[in-house]
Amino acid sequence: MQLPRVEPVTIAIAGSDARFPVRRIFCVGQNYADHVREMGGDPTRPAPFFFTKPADAVVASGAELAFPSQTADLHHEVELVVALGRGGANVSVADAPSLVFGHAVGIDLTRRDLQAAAKQAGRPWDMAKGFDQSAPLGALVYGLPPAAGAIALSVNGEQRQAGDLAQMIWNVAEIIATLSTFVTLAGGDLIFTGTPAGVGPVRPGDRLCATLAGVTPLEIGFRG
Ligand code: MN
Repeated sequence: MQLPRVEPVTIAIAGSDARFPVRRIFCVGQNYADHVREMGGDPTRPAPFFFTKPADAVVASGAELAFPSQTADLHHEVELVVALGRGGANVSVADAPSLVFGHAVGIDLTRRDLQAAAKQAGRPWDMAKGFDQSAPLGALVYGLPPAAGAIALSVNGEQRQAGDLAQMIWNVAEIIATLSTFVTLAGGDLIFTGTPAGVGPVRPGDRLCATLAGVTPLEIGFRG
């Protein structure tokens, strides 16, 4: 048998022909107080916690996705995503912004029913979060994201999520600094930074539009 060919995963950069290579995808859980409350949690600034998705979970804006298998409750979570241009371990909050290459809007697609069952059983979230095409992502914009700015998601033209980056419990620098105490970060790493309130179900045939101040909207559809 021949060795398999593994294609590198890359994402578009707005206004450039260059493409950003994706190394790993980290995600922050429950980083907006109103979303923590809707999930039944306590929003009093517990330390951020992390989970991952495989790099090839990324899908670009404009994609028509197959509806995921093994779920009857797929949810949308619109999120600010930061892309790291370089890495480090035990990065200070002061140095963390210098690691950021760019930012984009993304959707952390979640099999909510599998996640709830995993929470109940004390089992890992991987199959609830890290499935095929679970990380739709818009084009990267160079530089740091703003500290405040509207973030929203609509389904079939109807607004479902609306928040502001200023509502994040942990800001981008704090997230990078904390994550870098668990793993040595590297250029190519993406970080999904959590979702505001209003998460909800996605059905076959739905069209999703995710927006974030200053970046190109992300639009995806699900086959009916
Ligand atoms: Mn999320």
